[in-house]
Amino acid sequence: MAELKLRKVGKSYGTLSVMHDLNLEIHDGEFLVLVGPSGCGKSTLLRMIAGLEEITDGTIAINGKVVNDLPASKRELSMVFQSYALYPHMSVRKNLAFGLQNLKMDRAEIDRRVDEAARILQIEPLMARKPRQLSGGQKQRVAIGRSIVREPQLFLFDEPLSNLDAELRVQMRVELASLYERLKTTMIYVTHDQVEAMTLATRIVVLRAGKIEQVGTPEELYTRPANLFVAGFIGSPK
Ligand code: ADP
Ligand code: MG
Repeated sequence: MAELKLRKVGKSYGTLSVMHDLNLEIHDGEFLVLVGPSGCGKSTLLRMIAGLEEITDGTIAINGKVVNDLPASKRELSMVFQSYALYPHMSVRKNLAFGLQNLKMDRAEIDRRVDEAARILQIEPLMARKPRQLSGGQKQRVAIGRSIVREPQLFLFDEPLSNLDAELRVQMRVELASLYERLKTTMIYVTHDQVEAMTLATRIVVLRAGKIEQVGTPEELYTRPANLFVAGFIGSPK
């Protein structure tokens, strides 16, 4: 399980303050989608949760434990980036197994996890291929697979579909929805795509210039937007 509490979180890059006094609770098993315009702090927030970026003020707690000083490698979470960053010289199977080998996990357990991820993502026929022999969607599936094999309690996604063409984006969105249905792991998902937000989220957080404008279910945000900014972002109700 994984639940998060962000309390009075602030972030500055030098003298540039990009986030101030941000409070947010994320419940176990939630698919939380973060939306907002470019530069509003979505990636920064995700990277602070992942431990890839120091927080300037406040606390982030995962399962009741403040993780401010915990290095990224010790946080039981896994992040999927916009760019796939697969190892070009390794097969799909090796790409999936590589992170686990570094953890000194035994061979049988690595194989079990890799096979399971391949089954979930339906990439079993691709296991012997190299990344250059894969389509964009297949590469992104392998990238997601590398997170799944770690069996994290928490997934962080930073615009994982934004490099894909429209058709693939739709397909991958459906696959992510069914992945969530199967795993029911807590997910925090950044996107600037309203359709992704509306269809994937159990709750949506609308960010603007480092501040939360509104948090609610897709339906709440659509039917009762707190202000014009949210309405404009989510799609104005009649
Ligand atoms: P988003 O992901 O919503 O597009 P970011 O979290 O990447 O936004 O950026 C939020 C703000 O922080 C922006 O103003 C951006 O320019 C700034 N920023 C992000 N990373 C850095 C950095 N490493 N150094 C300085 N400023 C940064
Ligand atoms: Mg970003």
